[in-house]
Amino acid sequence: MLKRYIESGDALEASSGSKKRKTDRGSGQTSTVEISKCKLTTDDYTIGWICPLEVEQIAAMEMLDEEHERLPQASTDHNVYNLGSIAGHNVVIAGLYQAGNNPAATVVTQMRMTFQNLRFGMLVGIGGGVPVKTENGMIRLGDVVVSKPAGGHSGAVQYDHGKARAGKFERIGILAPPPVVLLNAAQDLAAKRARSRTDPVQDNIKRIDTRIRGLRKYKNPGTTKDYLHEPNYIHSKPELTCDQCGCDPLKRIPRPTDDGDDDDGSYIVVYRGTIASGEAVVKDAMLRDELAEEYGILCFEMEAAGALTDFPCIVIRGISDYCDSHKNNQWHGYAAVVAAAYSRQLFFHMLIGEVKRYVLASAY
Ligand SMILES: [Zn+2]
Repeated sequence: MLKRYIESGDALEASSGSKKRKTDRGSGQTSTVEISKCKLTTDDYTIGWICPLEVEQIAAMEMLDEEHERLPQASTDHNVYNLGSIAGHNVVIAGLYQAGNNPAATVVTQMRMTFQNLRFGMLVGIGGGVPVKTENGMIRLGDVVVSKPAGGHSGAVQYDHGKARAGKFERIGILAPPPVVLLNAAQDLAAKRARSRTDPVQDNIKRIDTRIRGLRKYKNPGTTKDYLHEPNYIHSKPELTCDQCGCDPLKRIPRPTDDGDDDDGSYIVVYRGTIASGEAVVKDAMLRDELAEEYGILCFEMEAAGALTDFPCIVIRGISDYCDSHKNNQWHGYAAVVAAAYSRQLFFHMLIGEVKRYVLASAY
């Protein structure tokens, strides 16, 4: 199939009634000029961007080319939406009132009733990584994991935390695969990035001006703050950080420094494969590794199973912890940004017409 690839900044197919916002964010400078927002109709929006946490919503909004005015919604729709466009695609950003699969299912249902032309969704946010060695290196904090069918799975599996056997998962279910349009976009982006001297995802990260007080939390903590401990080494005081708790640095697995330029932050490392979604937070490295080995899981999160019940989505997670007892919030901001920055770039690898023609039922 012949596809036309669109690079950031190139001319795009016109989106109905949208007004371009002029910014110079690629240089790291954020425009402070208030712009007048344009107003579309609910039918103009084709892609849903779902992000569970406020830190993720802010990162998502920073990725918009232009912001649109809010639109009236039914009294039964309690979601808060932020509207805008990226690369000519009109996108609805929806947050969750709390993390988890049930809130995700509710938000998606309401969003689809209000925005009836939504073709598919992107679940974008942070997740817990599995530090497995892949052909792309070992998954570390600040990397991105994207759902993709692999190893006989659809790209996303559901786990339930069994009550009968403490610490064991009782059930694994297969969730719907990502929409073909997005799988193709991810593949195309991967090919483009492999051949590029500069990383467009890294350029997107620079859209967030971390000199602004409210955006400081999005700074990259740095590789020296990437603590991966041996699976059987337990963090004793959950309320404290590893440094405060006195976790032994000798029990850490060093971040490789001989992987070319991966570690200098100039190129965001992206893995594509199976993501696990469940109700329980995984904070046990032994359990993490056991499940990961059995199902080829690269990342754990808590919303996909809810959102995917009747809406095709791709899951995009920035890695903020390792699902072990040492888990803390230090990497939340930066992990949210890398996920949002990768997601933004996907829009440049989808044709507007292709998205509009995408039939929901074709994913099932
Ligand atoms: Zn620790």
